[in-house]
Amino acid sequence: MRAIRRFTVRPVLPEPIAALGTLATNLRWSWHAPTQDVFAAAEPEVWASTQDPVRVLGALTRGRLDELASDDAFLERLGQAQASLDAYLSDDRWYQRAMPHGPRSIAYFSPEFGVTAVLPQYSGGLGILAGDHLKAASDLGVPIVGVGLLYRHGYFTQSLSREGWQQESYPLLDPDELPLTALREADGSPATVSIAQPGGPDLVARIWVAKVGRVPLLLLDTDVEGAPEHHVAVTDRLYGGDVEHRLRQELLLGVGGVRAVRVHSRITGAPEPEVYHTNEGHAGFQGLERIRELTSGESGPGLPFDAAREVCRASTVFTTHTPVPAGIDRFPRTLIEQYFSSDGATPGVPLDRVLALGAEEDPGVFNMAVMGFRLAQRANGVSELHGQVSRGMFHGLWPAFDEAEVPITSITNGVHAPTWVARELQGLIAELGADADGDPAEFERAIAAVPFDRMWGLKHGMRRRLVDDARSRLRASWHGRGASDAELGWIDEALSPDVLTIGFARRVPSYKRLTLMLRDPERLRRILLDPDRPVQLVIAGKAHPADDGGKRLIQELVRFADDAEVRHRIVFLPDYDIAMALPLYPGCDVWLNNPLRPYEACGTSGMKAALNGGLNLSILDGWWDEWHDGGNGWAIPSADGVDDPDKRDDLEASALYDLLEHEIAPRFYDRDPDGLPARWLEMLRHTLVSLAPKVLATRMVRDYVRELYGPASSSSRALDGGYAGAVELAEWKARVADGWPAVRVEHVESGGAGDAAEVGTSLPVRAFVALGGLSPDDVSVQLAWGRAVGDDEIADPQLTPLTLAETYEGGRLCFSGAIPLDRSGAFGYTVRIVPRHPRLASVAELGLATVA
Ligand SMILES: *Cc1c(COP(=O)(O)O)cnc(C)c1O
Repeated sequence: MRAIRRFTVRPVLPEPIAALGTLATNLRWSWHAPTQDVFAAAEPEVWASTQDPVRVLGALTRGRLDELASDDAFLERLGQAQASLDAYLSDDRWYQRAMPHGPRSIAYFSPEFGVTAVLPQYSGGLGILAGDHLKAASDLGVPIVGVGLLYRHGYFTQSLSREGWQQESYPLLDPDELPLTALREADGSPATVSIAQPGGPDLVARIWVAKVGRVPLLLLDTDVEGAPEHHVAVTDRLYGGDVEHRLRQELLLGVGGVRAVRVHSRITGAPEPEVYHTNEGHAGFQGLERIRELTSGESGPGLPFDAAREVCRASTVFTTHTPVPAGIDRFPRTLIEQYFSSDGATPGVPLDRVLALGAEEDPGVFNMAVMGFRLAQRANGVSELHGQVSRGMFHGLWPAFDEAEVPITSITNGVHAPTWVARELQGLIAELGADADGDPAEFERAIAAVPFDRMWGLKHGMRRRLVDDARSRLRASWHGRGASDAELGWIDEALSPDVLTIGFARRVPSYKRLTLMLRDPERLRRILLDPDRPVQLVIAGKAHPADDGGKRLIQELVRFADDAEVRHRIVFLPDYDIAMALPLYPGCDVWLNNPLRPYEACGTSGMKAALNGGLNLSILDGWWDEWHDGGNGWAIPSADGVDDPDKRDDLEASALYDLLEHEIAPRFYDRDPDGLPARWLEMLRHTLVSLAPKVLATRMVRDYVRELYGPASSSSRALDGGYAGAVELAEWKARVADGWPAVRVEHVESGGAGDAAEVGTSLPVRAFVALGGLSPDDVSVQLAWGRAVGDDEIADPQLTPLTLAETYEGGRLCFSGAIPLDRSGAFGYTVRIVPRHPRLASVAELGLATVA
């Protein structure tokens, strides 16, 4: 019989074990093994099959509850876990010591969060990164509040048809069975936000809170009593639906997200954010809502639009995560006109100003990324290479400047070690008193002291666990594909804990090239089946439900792996998620990544492998381009510049096979008299020492705090005091933009030396300029100089400000300075004028520059 309705009865915990409830609803358990042990002890079978504290609690019978409440050993462990959580939540941490004047709170917006497998609100890298960011911020004591949506069906669950075609299902999540608490008003009613919709009732959402250690994550949910069907559907699933559906989701995330933060602060007394960090364009509407608040007088004195925009910019950090123009979020302009009309989402914010913020070359399109840049004074990409690619991609927004001066910096992503490092390896590192996040020299000494046989034994155990997990997943998958147990005896022999294990798991967009390894199937077969040096491959990944191309790639791979000759050496495991990832990274000896360079903005899976002693085998893209040092893994040479994609794939696949056959397999199987692969273990050790300190999410979060959050809060505080600074800055920008056409470099003289310049001397320069209505204080007159290349280009120009030397009648000014001639060779210089104001974060901020 089918139930017409279902609900969850939460257990009433006897007083002595009431702490179980607190521990289950703070997701710190997901990276704290002793707390996991408490739940495992409470209900071992349920824990083993779900790894979910809320389900463990739901399964406890009255009898079991009473038993636990009088079990002294259990109570002691429970007490320790509770005490550990209490200390974790209240102790001063890095931020309290290092940033006493840092922002009081930072709001972090993302369309997805991957915190734990039991809260499936992510599709891939962006979500996992957001989850790791919150966890690391919590560990460091950084006062962040996360803002996202609660998707009632999450992303999707992947299985395979008999033919190897991806099948999607969307199980319904019940918030009562998730580790969430409802945010409530004082009278007990659910706290909500609402957003006006064109010609219809308001869109209403309630607010759930997931506690990620010290960090609250607010999740908005439109499935509220009495809401029309099309409103309930807004938070149905992640990345599904048509363009209007996506717009409604982004309205809710941005506008609703800011409103939810206000409600959360009002109810809990949490400080209001001083910095707003938006990830990708999806949450860009948060800026419009804050402009609405500021212009309406709801927060502060009722500012003019331009001044409100300055306040918003100063306090906003925008992170772009895609290097692919096609990956940019865009809407038809007509939809924006509809949703931001005068009775729309942000009443009082003029529609023409909204449209101007998202304007790009195509007048019919509203571009969320360009709005992101226009509403954020600080912006970054997620690896050095991606920063460079982003500066190229968005150069058009700052055409008066060289690409290198485009104000997009980079902070390389990181991963949360307590979540991703195998428990036994964490245990070993703790036993050594080592800390990848501490003094690097000490960490290196500690790792160097681990005997090879111990490390190898550990790695074998990790491989063993992966093999066990993979076999049970394979069996379940084949059952789903219609096979009977009688046909599945071979699975007991699938994979081996002694064979060189290579992992490849990620989403399946075409640039990640899932099937590059199949370029020459015969050669791959030989590599897998080599009698002396066999290789095994564990592969996983979901294709977007609308991406038939991606599903074809999965099918191609599954068909290859189904072949009875190789199926014990290559497996495709359906439904890649955090639960699968946890044993997968530690179990792999090599982590393979072969994207089409430079389309991998950063990539984080290889970092998780490295932290577990896995060696990376990757195209030099994203983070690997930055941190591969020749000894901590292998670089697959990429055929950049080869335009024919087939040719390029052939070249890169062939380089991949060569590395596997000639470098990797021999090194793994080459054993010393003790049976240990000494050269392999040296490399493993070097991987840990050289990469572990860099790839940590704590390093990433500290970089964000120091380089972006701290400066953003300083900028925004400088505009405060009734926002007089913002009004002044907005008026100054308008005046400078108006007056700029009259700014000219009229004439440049270089004194003396000229052709006979010698190293060690300097070259005096005088520039005669006209500033029209602007004053010398409004501008910086700069000397740009450096090595001359090609057609008089200056390579990596150095910039020195010239000083005002003389003022002539008629407004002509003379600025002077000198170029130090510190090396020989071809030399070039020029003079340029740019706006100058203490509140600018970058010289390119106004996009204005005049060159001689
Ligand atoms: C780390 C991780 C990803 C992201 O991997 P990339 O290398 O960035 O593609 C995706 N899904 C899961 C489950 C992960 O753990």
